[in-house]
Amino acid sequence: MALFNAMETIVVNMFDEFSKSYELKCDCNKCKEDMLALVLNKIPPRYTSSEKGQLFIKGMYINPQLQSDVMRELMEAAIIVEHHQHHPEEV
Ligand SMILES: [Zn+2]
Repeated sequence: MALFNAMETIVVNMFDEFSKSYELKCDCNKCKEDMLALVLNKIPPRYTSSEKGQLFIKGMYINPQLQSDVMRELMEAAIIVEHHQHHPEEV
């Protein structure tokens, strides 16, 4: 069985867009994963089979409501992670 959460792909890709327009306080992998986890926990998962997945993801991308939801959640997650960094400041 090949099921996956299509939101994962969408959120990861939108994070790249997001990080271009928003200056993250820390851009290490740990903080990125914390942000992605926060967003993915708040947005309902969309499980789909891998064949239908590609089509489904394309459809989601052109949905402006979904895009603005994900962007808003990314913004909130970035603020949370900035204030609760789980690792000491790196130089
Ligand atoms: Zn970090």
